Amino acid sequence: MEEAHSGICGAHQSGPKLHFWVKMMGYYWRMMVKDCLDYSRKCQPCQFHANFIHQPPEPLHPTIASWPFMHGVVAKSKRDWHERIGEALWANHTTHRTPTQATPYSLVYGVEAVLPLEQQIPSLRIVIQEGLTNDENAKLRLAVLKALDEKRLEAQQKLECYQARLFRAFNKKVRPWSFEVGELVLAIRRPIITTHQTDNKFLSKWDGPYVVTEVYTNGAYKIVNEEGIRVGPINGKFLKHYYP
Ligand SMILES: [Zn+2]
Repeated sequence: MEEAHSGICGAHQSGPKLHFWVKMMGYYWRMMVKDCLDYSRKCQPCQFHANFIHQPPEPLHPTIASWPFMHGVVAKSKRDWHERIGEALWANHTTHRTPTQATPYSLVYGVEAVLPLEQQIPSLRIVIQEGLTNDENAKLRLAVLKALDEKRLEAQQKLECYQARLFRAFNKKVRPWSFEVGELVLAIRRPIITTHQTDNKFLSKWDGPYVVTEVYTNGAYKIVNEEGIRVGPINGKFLKHYYP
């Protein structure tokens, strides 16, 4: 098994492949599937060079970004945010949102904002509005405001549907894994880059072993290495089990 997995012709195959290979060579013994799985799981080079895990270890915990619309507006230095916030807010308020299927502006005032462009080249609604008397205009405005509650409710429902869709899409990929105090783990080498490319292909991607010393809520862990140096708290998605 050793020869087949890591010997001259071994390519550090996974357990099922190793089993297949050994069988192809004409060997058979009881429990050979389990032995092969265990052997390749415990192989040291395999553990340290294994690929990053891209599956999320926990269900989605949604957070709301405080200024999501400021991305791409502010210059790199981020010093000019106070000059740009007016523009950014305006753009944010008049942009159609996928989650609510409406613009934030219309959910506050009941109608869409009149854009500067519509003043220069009158749009249909501007032309209609200008033909109305003050009285008619007021009536129209009142009707719009009466419909506003319903509009908001509809937006709320659409938002809930959207979030449910988001949760389903995310949680489909979740394969829960967790660690307990005293377990041996490997951690992704820092700085944590979980893309497919790293600078040095031959440097192992995982680092350790560490011992889990404390389990926090929300999937974070405190870990200690062999010299007793603490790392963490570290998110569970950067850890995996180590088999000595
Ligand atoms: Zn191996």
